[in-house]
Amino acid sequence: MNHDCFYPSIWLGSFISKSAFDSQSKHLNELFGVLDTIDDCMLPSRHPTTLRAYCAACGTVTDMQLTWHYCATNAAGSVHPAWTETAACQVCGLNSRMRAVIDYLRRLLEGEQGANYKRVYCAERTTPSYPVIERLFDKVTGSEYLGDDKKLGQKSLHYKGYPRLVRHEDLTQLSFAAKSFDLVVTQDVFEHIPNYHQAFRECARVLDDGGMLVFTIPFFFDQQVTRVRASLRADGQVEHHLPPEYHGNPVSNEGSLCFQNFGWDIIDDLNNNGFIDARASLYWGPWQGHLGLPFFVFSAIKKRPA
Ligand SMILES: [Zn+2]
Repeated sequence: MNHDCFYPSIWLGSFISKSAFDSQSKHLNELFGVLDTIDDCMLPSRHPTTLRAYCAACGTVTDMQLTWHYCATNAAGSVHPAWTETAACQVCGLNSRMRAVIDYLRRLLEGEQGANYKRVYCAERTTPSYPVIERLFDKVTGSEYLGDDKKLGQKSLHYKGYPRLVRHEDLTQLSFAAKSFDLVVTQDVFEHIPNYHQAFRECARVLDDGGMLVFTIPFFFDQQVTRVRASLRADGQVEHHLPPEYHGNPVSNEGSLCFQNFGWDIIDDLNNNGFIDARASLYWGPWQGHLGLPFFVFSAIKKRPA
């Protein structure tokens, strides 16, 4: 039985620019007020708690663990969890943003063009999302960035969790042939790549005509211009322009440096580097364990040659 039919869509709309998003600000601000009230009603204790909701990855109702790691205070002084990073399904381990990507991919598969998405490249291999994506598509290739000492495209034994062979790839110089995939999926990766424009061009190169890039990033919806926190000098040394910010890394305990905080110009960057129809799709839905706003899944279609 398909449980999905009992649940409303979590997709509220998609936006192609800051001005398109801001043009809805009156309605969005009203909506944020409503949703803040719902958050406040659901979270009276400010202690870890569980939420029963439908998991798009498991395809069933599960318990999701809400924690207060990385929580923040909003303009009104009310404390909210880092919604994208919490509400992890206790069965599959996927947090809110990872489950939003799975829901997005499932809707793509169920859509008119669904049969076109067969060959998938995921810029991850050791994460809880990978086996879920592997079950959704015919042929899924995964990789991790394992360090400059590894050869592109080669697998080496990796021990995190359990021993397995993991392929090394660098999104700015992928070892795959052109047009190898119908879909490329990355989750919170581009902020760790100083030359992310080159990574976009590489994703476009390995996508077949009409193929799609789907990804998440930490996104600053009130910023038009991407804020560069750090860059790489010609000698390869990192130059910090703002205090260094490190995020969790699935293949390293040291964390990954965040090079930039993305703003809406990422849409133009995609459209100028091998893609068309770049957009940010807004999701929310407590029935699937997605609370807080505004959070997005990004997508773009490979531009066909003129
Ligand atoms: Zn699950």
